[in-house]
Amino acid sequence: MKKQSKYNIWVNNILYNSFSENAIPFSENEVESIKYYLENTNEFLENYPEILEKFEKLGFIVKSDFNELEYILYRNRIDTLQNKNYHLTINPTLQCNYKCWYCIVEDVGTKYEQRRMNDETVELVKKHIKYMIEVEKIPYLYLDWFGGEPLMYFYEVIYPISKYALELCNANNISFSSHATTNAYYIDNKMIDLFNEIKLTSFQIPIDGNEKKHNLVKNHNGIGHYKQIVESINNIAKKVINAHIIMRINYDKQTLNNATDVIKYIKEENRKKIFVDFQRIWQIDLTKNEEGNNDLLIEIKKRI
Ligand code: SF4
Repeated sequence: MKKQSKYNIWVNNILYNSFSENAIPFSENEVESIKYYLENTNEFLENYPEILEKFEKLGFIVKSDFNELEYILYRNRIDTLQNKNYHLTINPTLQCNYKCWYCIVEDVGTKYEQRRMNDETVELVKKHIKYMIEVEKIPYLYLDWFGGEPLMYFYEVIYPISKYALELCNANNISFSSHATTNAYYIDNKMIDLFNEIKLTSFQIPIDGNEKKHNLVKNHNGIGHYKQIVESINNIAKKVINAHIIMRINYDKQTLNNATDVIKYIKEENRKKIFVDFQRIWQIDLTKNEEGNNDLLIEIKKRI
């Protein structure tokens, strides 16, 4: 006996399972019959056994006695207790070259003062990494650079710590990866070469709408750098080995109207390395229709 997964969600004509994280788009005239067969799995099995088997493999159908919630709780416990992978978030500074109106840094009472992690702390972080590798025997180290703008102090903090950590991981046969949440202003060719050297391959870079809107939010005395930032996204995608870029579109009530402008600036060959992530600015109220959806957001997501 089979049943449909309780984690199946329909988003228009897309069937998504939030447990297996699989999705299938259907044509509009298929949706009702798929919904029917998901509710009536015996008929599904009788009429389309091969399709049902595929649905089961993708997690949309499960065995009737399978308790998905129990299984999630079980996996969560295993992950919490047994996972020794080490995720280390490091803020080289809370300083930033920009002053976005929605930034959390000032909102929580922290100052954008000129200050970075000092050299003594850099050495202590290295010592900590050595301890985690040699004593705690972590199997995987993930460095996560955050700020403020972390690349402001790339040469003083990120490069020396990463180089040290990577060499130690290689010597101990430990997996290593590194990610930076950055506004990308400081990225140039020299830095990109060093990203490859220290295996900094993953980036989250914000775009605040089209050129005009982005430059309104992120600028130096009114001068913005939208084209430069988009060029850096293209350069990372082209030159950083195994690059993965999350282009984060921070949106308010107006941003979405022109958000797709960015598509024309991203070279086609780079697009497969870029994941677009829409995030409503946290101070802005939700926009939603009677069904709870933001129609414009859905439309823009489809186009992107
Ligand atoms: S770029 Fe990021 S850290 Fe800098 S001011 Fe804007 S939100 Fe804050």
